[in-house]
Parts: sequence; C-alpha cells; structure tokens
Amino acid sequence: MIRKFISRVLGRSTPTDAVEPAIIPVEQHGLQRDQISRACRRTIETLQESGYQAYVVGGAVRDLLAGLTPKDFDVATNATPEQVRQSFRRARIIGRRFQIVHVGIGAETIEVTTFRGHHGDDAGSHGQVDEQGRVLRDNVFGSQSEDAARRDFTVNALYYDPACENIVDYHHGVADLQQKTLRMIGDPRTRYREDPVRMLRAVRLAAKLGLSIDPAARRPIREMADLIGNVPPSRLFDEMLKLLTSGHAVRCVSQLREEGLHRGLLPLLDVILEHPVGERFVILALETTDQRVREGKPVSPGFLFASLLWHEVLAKWAALQKDAESPSSHVLFFQAMDEVIEVQGEKLAITRRIAGDMKDIWALQPRFQQRSGKRAYGILQQPRFKAGYDFLLLRTLAGEVESEIGNWWTDFLHADDESRASMVLGQAGETTRKRRRRRRSVRASGVEKTD
Ligand code: ATP
Ligand code: MG
Repeated sequence: MIRKFISRVLGRSTPTDAVEPAIIPVEQHGLQRDQISRACRRTIETLQESGYQAYVVGGAVRDLLAGLTPKDFDVATNATPEQVRQSFRRARIIGRRFQIVHVGIGAETIEVTTFRGHHGDDAGSHGQVDEQGRVLRDNVFGSQSEDAARRDFTVNALYYDPACENIVDYHHGVADLQQKTLRMIGDPRTRYREDPVRMLRAVRLAAKLGLSIDPAARRPIREMADLIGNVPPSRLFDEMLKLLTSGHAVRCVSQLREEGLHRGLLPLLDVILEHPVGERFVILALETTDQRVREGKPVSPGFLFASLLWHEVLAKWAALQKDAESPSSHVLFFQAMDEVIEVQGEKLAITRRIAGDMKDIWALQPRFQQRSGKRAYGILQQPRFKAGYDFLLLRTLAGEVESEIGNWWTDFLHADDESRASMVLGQAGETTRKRRRRRRSVRASGVEKTD
C-alpha cells in the first residue's frame, strides 16, 4: 500500500503493474550477433552458462539498430555485482552511487550492470533521493522489467540476447527508433527531476541519432532548465564533454541554446555567442572538432574548452587592462585566464589537468606574434606547441589574426634548419652580426630591455 502510494507520487510504475515485453525476432530488427564485440559475447555466454540472464543493453543496441558504431558494449544481468565478479577471472566492482562490474576480456572492458529496481519503502539506504527528487544512490536490484522502466528513453531500454538474437522491448523502443522519435519512459517532468542530466542527454542523443525529441519530453525542458544547477559540477563536466565530442557538437550546442539549457552549463557561452566574432570562432572550433571525431581522430578536451572560452579571456583581459594602473599586460593576461576558469568552474568543474592544457594553449597566443631569433625557436620547443599552433590557425580562419602570421608559423614549422634561420633573420630584418653588435651596444649603455 505504502509502496504503491510512493510510486504514484514519484510517478514510477510498481512491480505489480509490470508490463509484458515485446519479443522482437532478428527477422524484424536485423541485428545479428556478430555485430556484437567478441568480449561482450563472451561475457554474456559466461553469465548465461552460470544460469543467469544476460543481455546487451542501452547505447550499443540502439546505435547498432540506427546503423552507427557503438562506443562500447554494456551488459545487464540478474546476477548481483558480487556474483558477476566471481564468474570472471578479471573483474572488479566499481562505483558507489551506482555499483557496476568491469569485466576485462582481452583488451576490452565490458561494463556489467545488475538489473535496477524501484526505490520502495523497503529500499533503506540503498536508494536515496534529495529534496528535489534527485536520485543520490541507486543500488536497489530488481527485475528486468523494473530495470527497463528506470532507463531514460525508450530507445535505451532494449535488451539484445546474442544467443537467440531476440530483442526484449518493454517500451516500444524499436518502433520509436524506426519513427525517429526520442521518447521518455514515464512522466518526463518526474524523470528530469530525478536526474536533470537527462535533459542534456535528450539533446545529445537526438542530435547524435537524428531523432526528434517527443513534444512531451521537450516541452518541460525550458522551464526545468534551472535544475541543472543542482547537479554536481564534475558530472556536468563529463556530460558536457560527451556532448562536445559526440561528432555533433554544432547541432548539440545550437539545440542547447534553443532549449535554454546552455546558461547553466557554460555560463559564459551565451555572452560569447552574442558577439559575432566570438560566435564565428566557437562555431568554427566545434565544426573542426566534429570533423575530427567523424574521421576517427582524437580530440583534446583542453583545446575544446580553450576555444569555447577564448573570447571571454580576451574580453576579461581588455577590461583588466583598462582598469589597471601598474601590472604589465602579461601579468593581466594570466589573471584573465585564471578568472575565466574560476568563474566557469562554479557550474562546470573543469579538471585541473584540462585547465592546465587550456592555459598552455592560451599563453602561447600572444607569443606567436614574436617571430624573431631565439623566441621563435623557444615557442617551437614548447610541449603544447602543436595545440597552440592549431589554435592560432583557428583564429586566423575566424579572421581574428592576419593570415600572414599563421602562414609564417606553418612555413617555419615545416622548414629545414637553414630555411628556418633565414626566416627568423628575415623577420627581424637584420643579420645575426648586426643584431649581436646592437645587443652589445645596448648592454654597454646599461639599458638592456627585459621581457
Ligand atoms: P553513449 O554511450 O552514446 O553516451 P548511452 O545511452 O550508452 O549513450 P551511457 O551513459 O553509456 O549512455 O548509459 C548506458 C545506458 O544506461 C543508457 O542507454 C540508458 O539505458 C541508461 N542510462 C544512462 N544514463 C541514464 C540516466 N541519466 N537515467 C536513466 N538511464 C540512464
Ligand atoms: Mg554507452
């Protein structure tokens, strides 16, 4: 009785109203077992041989049905994490909020999750929600149908059994995928309240799969966008990184703006995007990233966030210079970088390593103007030179730096020693001997300039 009441209030279905799934045979869905990675098939076989149920679930089934290559394969089972761990030689339980088992087979790691159940009155400390209804802990195990009901979108709640090649479909996910609709399981408002990150997932998955978000799931996003503020910044960062490296970053960011979701994520982004040069720069950076992802090339998170926030650094630097009386422009530039990262970090925690990469990339930019002598060689030796140089090219492409500077660095980078020497000299417009002579006389006059 109490459980039923809680479930009604929270908008979840109860075990008593469990739905019968549709069992869809391979002739209808077309997904064959050899499309599943070997390690994933092995994992499932091992669990099934031990008498457990085991299925490929979630993103991998969805992506394969949509004709995309899955990033990884996840398995869902009725074995507990401990039972899973004992079934494999290389397996370990990880996570607290959500315990999962990592099974290592060859070079692959398969994530195995036990079916999740409801947070009823007997859930005790295994399942907890905060005062906004956000789920804090989630280790209540349950049946497959309960597990399906706890997933976010119908297309993510498909269970594929490689042994018989059937798909178990509780929420018409196969039909939704065919009709190109991203539909929430259950009441969208309740589900967003439980986990506001689902709003971002909606945008990302719709962009990635070319689906349209069902109006019932789309409508509440605008008014609930502020709930993003309750999500821990580190989780937001992970989700944002997924979004930006999805290969559809341009589409995702424009959809985030359309839904009014970007404000809580990149608080500076709306300001940047309202400035034409800033917008051009960000879009170019995202287009380049999308291109790289599609070509299977790695993308650097530092480079990405450096691009998104660059115009904010420039604006901050200009403001500081206007107000400042004494510190050098160089000191203020570093102060601007730190302040931008700090403001951003309040909402979206950029990891220290990535923040370090961003600063290295930014710090090189003013230095690219210096193309004489030792300085040019010094810049070439910087560990982050390549990223900084790519960033410079992006700036030239955006029309922010004269293309002559970008071209000079391209030539310098590819030139042999002799040509490099002549380029450097050409820049300074004087010979080495002349320069040495000038330096000596400057030193003699005691007014050597430092930088
Ligand atoms: P991708 O791998 O492309 O990021 P995905 O859907 O596989 O997408 P994962 O984070 O790998 O995303 O999650 C695996 C599955 O777990 C999802 O398909 C979904 O069924 C479920 N899931 C993930 N996040 C949530 C969430 N916030 N709420 C409910 N279910 C979720
Ligand atoms: Mg996945």
